[in-house]
Amino acid sequence: MPEEAGATWLPNSNFFAGREGHTPRYVVLHGTAGGISAAQIATYFQSTQGSENPVSSHYIVDQQGLVVQCVSEADGAWGNGVLSAGHAAYWQHLGSVNPNNVTISIEHVKASFDNADQLSEAQKSASFQLIEHVCRRHGIPMRAADEHGGIASHASLDPVTRARCPGPYPWEELFAYLQHNSLVPAGWRDDTAKGVLHAPNGYVVIQGFRSYVLSHPWAADNWPLENEHHREQLERSNAALGGGSIQRFRKTTLEWTPRAGLCEQWTGVEMMELERRLDQSVGTINRGTMNQGTINRAPTETPTP
Ligand SMILES: [Zn+2]
Repeated sequence: MPEEAGATWLPNSNFFAGREGHTPRYVVLHGTAGGISAAQIATYFQSTQGSENPVSSHYIVDQQGLVVQCVSEADGAWGNGVLSAGHAAYWQHLGSVNPNNVTISIEHVKASFDNADQLSEAQKSASFQLIEHVCRRHGIPMRAADEHGGIASHASLDPVTRARCPGPYPWEELFAYLQHNSLVPAGWRDDTAKGVLHAPNGYVVIQGFRSYVLSHPWAADNWPLENEHHREQLERSNAALGGGSIQRFRKTTLEWTPRAGLCEQWTGVEMMELERRLDQSVGTINRGTMNQGTINRAPTETPTP
């Protein structure tokens, strides 16, 4: 079973099982320097099993945007075992650890033997999404690699024989994409063109509330319980705040008024006020039951429309 949704699973046996105890901290990007399709490259990897030079990568992304997975992310694929002279300084800290045990390798199908091809639009889109998903699954930093992890080129490990791997790649566009998407809670989807943030449960977050969610630490399970709407009195505990826009989430309430702007409700204060009123109201009902045999006394306050 592929770990990446939508990927085709064409496995081979060229890997270090269980990463020999290590965990992935880097994504390494490659170009195939020849070949047409992801499936063809996967078949090639299979053909090297048991040979003198068995090779593999975790993923292959072709120019049609198709993704093939060949090795489980739990295992170390045999794609970048050589650390050659002139490698990026941050790899030095690995010491004797085989780079394959701390990396997830992604091949990009490029027909030219020097990897000179630019990615196709479909390939770029599939590559960006795959990288984001891989980073999320393993907590890999979504930025250029340093000694703490991140995203690197094969050339950064082996500038001697792999200087042109992956060849041209839209790095700046990738990092811009990841920087934006790293702020979108996992499982949510942000439509930047329309300015609509879609939560997994179908509600949406727009305008200032969207900006707020995207610019503050926001738990993925802090879903909206409703869409943004107007309310004449936003808070029972702070009548002076007046009316405005409100949207309740599972753990947070966002409010906006023309005068105060956007604020997070002091949910605890509001809850205590509501509980106090509820207790009063229940007290009234109980007395009503005992004294007059009915619970249908006049409500203590008019419900908000
Ligand atoms: Zn490579």
